[in-house]
Amino acid sequence: MTLQELKAKAMEIADRRAAEFEHVNQVIFDLAELGMEEHKTVAFLTEELRKLGFTVTHPYCGLETGFRAEIGSGHPKVAFLAEYDALPGYGPDASQNGHACGHNWIGANCFGACAVLAELSEHFEGTIVYMGCPAEEAYGGKVDLVNGGAFDDIDAAMQLHISGGDEIKLGATTLAIDSLEFTFEGVAAHAAGYPERGVNALDACNLTFSGINALRQHVTPDVRIHGIITEGGTAPNIVPSHCVAKFFVRAANREYLTELTQKVINCAKGAELMTGAKLSWRYFENSFDNVKLCPALQKLMRDNLLLAGEEERFLNMATQPPAGSSDVGNVSQVCPTVMVNMGIHNQDGSDCHEEAFLQYCTGEYGFKGLNKAVKAQAMTALDIFCNPELLKEMQ
Ligand SMILES: [Zn+2]
Ligand SMILES: [Zn+2]
Repeated sequence: MTLQELKAKAMEIADRRAAEFEHVNQVIFDLAELGMEEHKTVAFLTEELRKLGFTVTHPYCGLETGFRAEIGSGHPKVAFLAEYDALPGYGPDASQNGHACGHNWIGANCFGACAVLAELSEHFEGTIVYMGCPAEEAYGGKVDLVNGGAFDDIDAAMQLHISGGDEIKLGATTLAIDSLEFTFEGVAAHAAGYPERGVNALDACNLTFSGINALRQHVTPDVRIHGIITEGGTAPNIVPSHCVAKFFVRAANREYLTELTQKVINCAKGAELMTGAKLSWRYFENSFDNVKLCPALQKLMRDNLLLAGEEERFLNMATQPPAGSSDVGNVSQVCPTVMVNMGIHNQDGSDCHEEAFLQYCTGEYGFKGLNKAVKAQAMTALDIFCNPELLKEMQ
């Protein structure tokens, strides 16, 4: 079969099995499990993938809700970056979890692409990998997967993330991020009776903020530093002896961020010296790298989104200024990766993480987008499987 014929076949399969993929989308949506707690979701997905003949490794890279499912043999190896963690704080009393970032939709579009390719696998050489990446929102499971070597043998990776509106951004970039927690240990004393006996840990936090605010004048414009004090003392008449501040430090590239993070740590060290409150610090979440674009892969995905029925006027190839941060960044540093923010064509202005957006991650809009996402990903993988020399261009 020629590549063209395979692509036509892939679209046919995606349409024929649409209800199956919509079911997967709905099941994950209804389970709505938070990051690192996606046990039922993973049990469901791994079972469904096994039914399709995939070999499952679970747990994976030390992650209880991480897994890898694959079928086929040898190279190229193409990985679909599946997510399936929900967000807290939805429903009438904000006590429910919800898939307001559409990670159920990502889990399902990866499943669909894998199912379509598995059905066609006798026609090409290579391995189809469903990479089960847990806890994107709060922890960054892909960082552990990258560090655990999950991507060492992967030739290309892709992810289509749902978003609001019409635009489909193929050049989305992200900021590298470090998460810093500073703990200062001082000495408690009566704040009015014997203040001279106290060592003020809250002053150390405040001076850390002051130092960072002075630093802001001397950083590049892409930098974002934002922090909170999570423990600031117990009563105004006691000199605070134990205080904690947390910061996110972000920049457009990892190299500069590493330099910047050291300067932020130095601000805390200066505060330690000024107050005498003893400093300890740690990274309280995984550090993410910035997304590295792969123009060759972007181009393939663009052409296949067109074939899948997206309109040209909505496809945006421009490199976007980085906004948030994502653990997809770490994957993109070790293998060619394309990450697309795919507008679902809702017209009410709602977007990811908003309660109003929940309805678009399933139902009519979600399913329509799901079908296109399955097709575009499966066909992009077919391009790679049928023309492995494309990989040289990507690397
Ligand atoms: Zn999100
Ligand atoms: Zn997301």
